[in-house]
Amino acid sequence: MKGSTNTRAVLLFIGDELLIGQTENTNAGWMARKLVEWGIETIEMRTLMDDREVIKNAFEEAWEKGDLIISTGGLGPTNDDMTAEVLADFCRAELEFNEEVFSWIKEYKEKQGQSVNSLHEKQAVLPTGLQYFRNESGTAPAMLYEKGDKVIVALPGVPYEMKELLTDKIYPRLKEKLISDNLKTTTLLTAGIPESEIAGQLEDFENQLPKSLSIAYLPGLVRVRIRLSARADSESKAEEVLQKYSQELQSILGDAVYGRGEETLEGVLGGLLKKNNLSLATAESCTGGYIAHLITSVAGSSDYYKGSVVAYSNEIKKGQLGVKESTLEEYGAVSEETVREMLAGVCHKFQTDLGIAVSGIAGPGGGSEEKPVGTVCVAVGRPDDYRLETYQLNQNRLLNIEKSSLLAINMLRLFLWGD
Ligand code: ATP
Ligand code: MG
Repeated sequence: MKGSTNTRAVLLFIGDELLIGQTENTNAGWMARKLVEWGIETIEMRTLMDDREVIKNAFEEAWEKGDLIISTGGLGPTNDDMTAEVLADFCRAELEFNEEVFSWIKEYKEKQGQSVNSLHEKQAVLPTGLQYFRNESGTAPAMLYEKGDKVIVALPGVPYEMKELLTDKIYPRLKEKLISDNLKTTTLLTAGIPESEIAGQLEDFENQLPKSLSIAYLPGLVRVRIRLSARADSESKAEEVLQKYSQELQSILGDAVYGRGEETLEGVLGGLLKKNNLSLATAESCTGGYIAHLITSVAGSSDYYKGSVVAYSNEIKKGQLGVKESTLEEYGAVSEETVREMLAGVCHKFQTDLGIAVSGIAGPGGGSEEKPVGTVCVAVGRPDDYRLETYQLNQNRLLNIEKSSLLAINMLRLFLWGD
């Protein structure tokens, strides 16, 4: 219910593929985080098979427990998609062909250069008396059913469709009905400092927090997200409290804070490069192009990113990047000397202002006593003005690749902030 107490949500994730482990239920974590942000408390999540009885029972039980029920999946046109039928049954509604929804599907397919078929007609057969929201990135619309103070929302399973519909179309309606304005949250994003160290730095800060403010640490790879939530008598008061303490938090943590909310390290780096009109190239050994992948995941990265040399072998390090034979012999491929030469080489080759160069032992093989698995050397900056770092990561190959990529991007961010 809006205002007085917390809105309690039950989340239902529908699909056989989730239960056999073929598809990871990524919708769950994302949605739960969104709801926390909106001040909605998730009391239960369930994963359900594509079975009419199972789904119907789950909706009935959820209706008893929660104020808000959100489901994903089972909205497709095939026979194993039965959320619409179950909802019709649950809401005691008729199933009818919905002209408007069908026109959305038709327009969507036409935009893709395709035409509708009988399955799409079936997809437009929907329970009467529900509200429908147009899906801009797919065919299945979102559905919303309200009765008294309670709301059911059914969303498609495809993660990006689900996310778009929930934030752009469903949230405004939830805000009117279920979400209290008196709770405000913000998330500060940090990189490069472990959670335990952050908690240490924030001990005094935490001890003087007013009761109306809560803090939560959400650690990830290289990054820790710190969420602050303020609850007050009014929206403006909550906003004010949140402003004050988030600014204080930011000044304590300094340049470890790279952004807020949904920002990414690679996005923030991109913004810095663009703002300063700087170009970038990468030379990657153990990360095998993962840094290039992260950087090019950012829309508009062609403005500043030139390209990469995946210099996996010593021949490529020498032939393409000009790393000296003597450097490799004396210090080895995984050394600060080598990555420094890789950095200079790639900046020169691609005529860029800046570079990132990484060489390491991702594992599980290839380690030695002197350089164990997880040793990663990184160079960032300009050929004649750079930062070098040697990290000791762990045993897991894929984690090492991901982690060293993020660390390298963070190093260049800090290098630019330092400038
Ligand atoms: P569509 O009309 O696009 O098929 P739908 O609502 O029927 O929508 P599903 O058929 O259940 O959706 O799933 C579509 C895709 O989304 C599948 O690839 C499925 O693996 C994926 N998906 C479904 N549920 C989840 C989830 N909880 N987390 C991540 N991916 C999911
Ligand atoms: Mg399905």
